[in-house]
Amino acid sequence: MQAETARIQIMVEGVTPPAARYFLVSFDIDGTLEVGHPPGPIALETVRNVQQRGHLIGSCSDRTLGEQRAMWSSNGIEADFVSHKQQLEALRNEFDCTRFVHIGDTITDLQFAGAAGFEFWYAIDLSLADPEDMILGKEGAASGQHDQSPLSSR
Ligand SMILES: [Mg+2]
Repeated sequence: MQAETARIQIMVEGVTPPAARYFLVSFDIDGTLEVGHPPGPIALETVRNVQQRGHLIGSCSDRTLGEQRAMWSSNGIEADFVSHKQQLEALRNEFDCTRFVHIGDTITDLQFAGAAGFEFWYAIDLSLADPEDMILGKEGAASGQHDQSPLSSR
Protein backbone atom coordinates (compact mmCIF):
# COMPACT_ATOMS: atom_id res chain seq x y z
CA MET A 1 0.00 0.00 0.00
CA GLN A 2 2.79 2.37 0.89
CA ALA A 3 4.64 1.43 -2.26
CA GLU A 4 1.49 2.17 -4.25
CA THR A 5 1.22 5.60 -2.65
CA ALA A 6 4.85 6.35 -3.36
CA ARG A 7 4.45 5.37 -7.00
CA ILE A 8 1.43 7.65 -7.39
CA GLN A 9 3.37 10.54 -5.87
CA ILE A 10 6.21 10.00 -8.29
CA MET A 11 3.75 10.00 -11.19
CA VAL A 12 2.19 13.25 -10.02
CA GLU A 13 5.57 14.88 -9.61
CA GLY A 14 6.48 13.62 -13.07
CA VAL A 15 3.64 15.47 -14.75
CA THR A 16 4.09 18.75 -12.85
CA PRO A 17 5.32 21.32 -15.36
CA PRO A 18 8.87 22.15 -14.29
CA ALA A 19 8.41 25.82 -15.13
CA ALA A 20 5.85 26.14 -12.35
CA ARG A 21 8.63 26.17 -9.77
CA TYR A 22 10.78 28.68 -11.53
CA PHE A 23 11.41 32.36 -12.00
CA LEU A 24 10.93 34.30 -15.17
CA VAL A 25 13.67 36.91 -15.33
CA SER A 26 13.31 39.71 -17.87
CA PHE A 27 16.31 41.86 -18.73
CA ASP A 28 16.23 45.30 -20.25
CA ILE A 29 19.11 45.61 -22.74
CA ASP A 30 20.42 49.15 -23.18
CA GLY A 31 22.01 50.44 -19.99
CA THR A 32 21.37 47.08 -18.31
CA LEU A 33 23.30 44.31 -20.11
CA GLU A 34 27.00 44.57 -20.88
CA VAL A 35 26.19 44.32 -24.59
CA GLY A 36 23.68 47.20 -24.47
CA HIS A 37 24.10 50.71 -25.93
CA PRO A 38 25.22 52.10 -23.57
CA PRO A 39 26.66 49.03 -21.85
CA GLY A 40 25.15 48.16 -18.50
CA PRO A 41 26.50 46.39 -15.43
CA ILE A 42 24.92 42.96 -15.98
CA ALA A 43 27.27 40.42 -17.52
CA LEU A 44 25.85 37.88 -19.95
CA GLU A 45 27.46 35.27 -17.71
CA THR A 46 24.92 36.21 -15.06
CA VAL A 47 22.10 35.63 -17.54
CA ARG A 48 23.59 32.26 -18.53
CA ASN A 49 23.93 31.25 -14.88
CA VAL A 50 20.31 32.12 -14.14
CA GLN A 51 19.17 30.11 -17.16
CA GLN A 52 21.39 27.16 -16.28
CA ARG A 53 19.75 27.03 -12.88
CA GLY A 54 16.52 26.25 -14.69
CA HIS A 55 14.86 29.64 -14.83
CA LEU A 56 13.39 31.36 -17.85
CA ILE A 57 15.28 34.35 -19.20
CA GLY A 58 14.69 36.86 -21.92
CA SER A 59 14.59 40.53 -22.73
CA CYS A 60 12.07 43.28 -22.48
CA SER A 61 13.33 46.33 -24.30
CA ASP A 62 12.42 49.24 -26.52
CA ARG A 63 14.32 47.46 -29.29
CA THR A 64 12.28 45.57 -31.88
CA LEU A 65 11.63 41.90 -31.19
CA GLY A 66 13.86 40.99 -34.13
CA GLU A 67 16.73 43.07 -32.76
CA GLN A 68 16.30 41.45 -29.36
CA ARG A 69 16.37 37.94 -30.85
CA ALA A 70 19.46 38.85 -32.88
CA MET A 71 21.21 40.18 -29.77
CA TRP A 72 20.64 36.91 -27.89
CA SER A 73 21.58 34.61 -30.74
CA SER A 74 24.73 36.57 -31.61
CA ASN A 75 25.82 36.01 -28.02
CA GLY A 76 25.00 32.30 -28.09
CA ILE A 77 22.08 32.49 -25.68
CA GLU A 78 18.75 30.85 -26.45
CA ALA A 79 16.31 33.28 -24.87
CA ASP A 80 12.98 31.94 -23.69
CA PHE A 81 11.16 35.12 -24.70
CA VAL A 82 11.55 38.61 -26.10
CA SER A 83 9.06 41.34 -25.34
CA HIS A 84 8.23 45.00 -25.61
CA LYS A 85 8.08 46.85 -22.31
CA GLN A 86 4.34 47.39 -22.62
CA GLN A 87 3.90 43.63 -23.01
CA LEU A 88 5.42 42.51 -19.71
CA GLU A 89 2.03 41.55 -18.33
CA ALA A 90 1.42 39.19 -21.24
CA LEU A 91 4.42 37.15 -20.10
CA ARG A 92 2.65 36.48 -16.82
CA ASN A 93 -0.18 34.82 -18.74
CA GLU A 94 2.09 32.98 -21.14
CA PHE A 95 4.49 31.39 -18.65
CA ASP A 96 3.64 29.39 -15.55
CA CYS A 97 6.33 30.67 -13.21
CA THR A 98 6.23 31.36 -9.49
CA ARG A 99 8.08 34.65 -9.60
CA PHE A 100 8.37 37.30 -12.30
CA VAL A 101 11.31 39.67 -12.16
CA HIS A 102 12.33 42.55 -14.42
CA ILE A 103 15.77 44.15 -14.30
CA GLY A 104 16.38 47.52 -15.87
CA ASP A 105 18.14 50.84 -15.53
CA THR A 106 15.42 53.50 -15.68
CA ILE A 107 12.26 54.65 -13.94
CA THR A 108 10.41 53.47 -17.06
CA ASP A 109 11.51 49.91 -16.32
CA LEU A 110 10.34 50.30 -12.74
CA GLN A 111 6.97 51.65 -13.86
CA PHE A 112 6.29 48.92 -16.43
CA ALA A 113 7.42 46.25 -13.97
CA GLY A 114 5.17 47.63 -11.27
CA ALA A 115 2.17 47.91 -13.58
CA ALA A 116 2.65 44.29 -14.73
CA GLY A 117 3.08 42.97 -11.19
CA PHE A 118 6.74 42.09 -11.68
CA GLU A 119 9.38 42.39 -9.00
CA PHE A 120 11.99 44.90 -10.04
CA TRP A 121 15.71 45.36 -9.60
CA TYR A 122 17.80 48.26 -10.81
CA ALA A 123 20.71 46.72 -12.73
CA ILE A 124 23.18 48.85 -10.82
CA ASP A 125 22.05 47.27 -7.56
CA LEU A 126 22.93 43.80 -8.89
CA SER A 127 26.48 44.46 -10.04
CA LEU A 128 27.86 42.79 -6.96
CA ALA A 129 29.61 39.53 -6.21
CA ASP A 130 26.68 37.16 -6.71
CA PRO A 131 24.10 38.88 -8.90
CA GLU A 132 22.22 35.70 -9.73
CA ASP A 133 21.86 34.91 -6.04
CA MET A 134 20.38 38.35 -5.55
CA ILE A 135 18.02 37.89 -8.48
CA LEU A 136 16.90 34.46 -7.35
CA GLY A 137 17.49 34.54 -3.64
CA LYS A 138 15.38 37.36 -2.37
CA GLU A 139 12.61 39.60 -3.49
CA GLY A 140 13.21 42.64 -5.64
CA ALA A 141 12.56 46.15 -4.44
CA ALA A 142 9.05 46.39 -5.84
CA SER A 143 8.08 42.96 -4.59
CA GLY A 144 5.09 42.61 -2.34
CA GLN A 145 4.09 46.20 -2.90
CA HIS A 146 2.15 45.69 -6.09
CA ASP A 147 -1.21 46.48 -4.54
CA GLN A 148 -0.05 49.55 -2.68
CA SER A 149 2.48 50.84 -5.17
CA PRO A 150 1.91 54.48 -6.19
CA LEU A 151 3.28 53.42 -9.57
CA SER A 152 0.37 51.10 -10.09
CA SER A 153 -3.12 52.26 -11.01
CA ARG A 154 -4.55 49.28 -9.16
MG1 LIG B 1 17.59 50.63 -20.50
